[in-house]
Amino acid sequence: MSNTHVFHRHLHHTPPVAVSGKGVWIQDSSGKEYLDASGGAAVSCLGHAHPEVLAAMHAQIDRLAYAHTSFFTTEVAEELAAHLIEHGPAGMSHAYFVSGGSEGVEAALKMARQYFVETGQSQRSHFIARRQSYHGNTLGALSVGGNQWRREPFAPILIPATHVSPCYPYREQQAGETPEQYGQRLAQELDDAIQRLGTDKVIAFIAETVGGATAGVLTPVPGYFKAVREVCDRHGVLLILDEVMCGMGRTGSLHACEQEGVTPDLLVVAKGLGGGYQPIGAVLAQKRIVEAMSQGSGFFQHGHTYLGHPVACAAALAVQHVLQRENLVARVRQSGARLEALLGETLGGHPNVGDIRGRGLFWGVELVRDRASKTPFDPALKLHARIKKEAMARGLMVYPMGGTVDGRLGDHVLLAPPFIATEAEFGVIAQRLHAAIAAAIESV
Ligand code: PMP
Repeated sequence: MSNTHVFHRHLHHTPPVAVSGKGVWIQDSSGKEYLDASGGAAVSCLGHAHPEVLAAMHAQIDRLAYAHTSFFTTEVAEELAAHLIEHGPAGMSHAYFVSGGSEGVEAALKMARQYFVETGQSQRSHFIARRQSYHGNTLGALSVGGNQWRREPFAPILIPATHVSPCYPYREQQAGETPEQYGQRLAQELDDAIQRLGTDKVIAFIAETVGGATAGVLTPVPGYFKAVREVCDRHGVLLILDEVMCGMGRTGSLHACEQEGVTPDLLVVAKGLGGGYQPIGAVLAQKRIVEAMSQGSGFFQHGHTYLGHPVACAAALAVQHVLQRENLVARVRQSGARLEALLGETLGGHPNVGDIRGRGLFWGVELVRDRASKTPFDPALKLHARIKKEAMARGLMVYPMGGTVDGRLGDHVLLAPPFIATEAEFGVIAQRLHAAIAAAIESV
């Protein structure tokens, strides 16, 4: 057991004590510095200790730290919502503020269900999601999540959900199939699942636009989401896109769905919204959904104590203003191309690197025992955890994960550096990651 009263997730291991952060670096209590190449968990878009964000939070704390949303709204929440709607996907009219990604997914699932209850379709009670996905750890979000390892202990207490194939070309696109045909096949699989469940029984299909915390960044093939949108529309099923990890500029557009040419009915954002300065997420909702609820009961039957927390909204608003003023999303596209090239140079030829994939500043590296057969390492070796350990020893933060592949765990590491990272820092990331992978593989 760890020698501390904090209930750390890993009960045998107390992590280093973080004491300060500046830009892309975090320092621990021994003075050691770590390059934050994963932005924590794809959170820190502006890096640490951005003076403008800190000043905005201080100003809000001095004015008003907290006011419950059943009594008041606040100027800062109104301003943030207006900003998100102005820059959000077409047709969105309202932002529902929560304290993180799982809360956002829970709210979206309930909003979707209540929309159908209000519009006389209360027989719709089923969600469809994808294998190899992650939507959060609360029970509703875990129910739609498709990561076997995370679900297993809780399976008997999850709400029923159907899982279809993810868009995972490296492993699941068939020989002779074009990316477009692959995308069409996946959309057909969704259509079949809806038909099987009953076309009037399904509430929504939920997917990460670019997959994150399960299988090391899964980028959709061209046309996949357009085909999925058509299937959903044909059956009156809502499309919920979870951009908790891949959204808010991370993939080189403010919302990842912009690059797919689709507009969801509900869009969940979090992590990069507040950049880690405060816990905050939001569900952006299409006008027709809010209107239906407004004309129905006029009340969303859901809520938490810290909805629209003023300091969280102030932090997020400041983060979004900096992002816009400094044109950081365009910078993500440029520096993403540089990071991609560097990863290709340093890791592309490695015999155990099966795939390097991503978009913008969101990259995944998939490790394999054998490149030709794409055979994963034995899951019991926990190679991804070893890579994280070796990276931390070298002063590098990377996000490790073991995603389920054919019932086995494959190993991945995820990179999501702050948008302000420099070319020199990308060089450090590539070089330290290469050394950490080599040492981890040496150890198995
Ligand atoms: N959805 C996605 C796509 C995520 O990546 C995450 C977190 N990794 C969540 C939801 C859950 O967010 P949180 O940890 O803030 O509850």
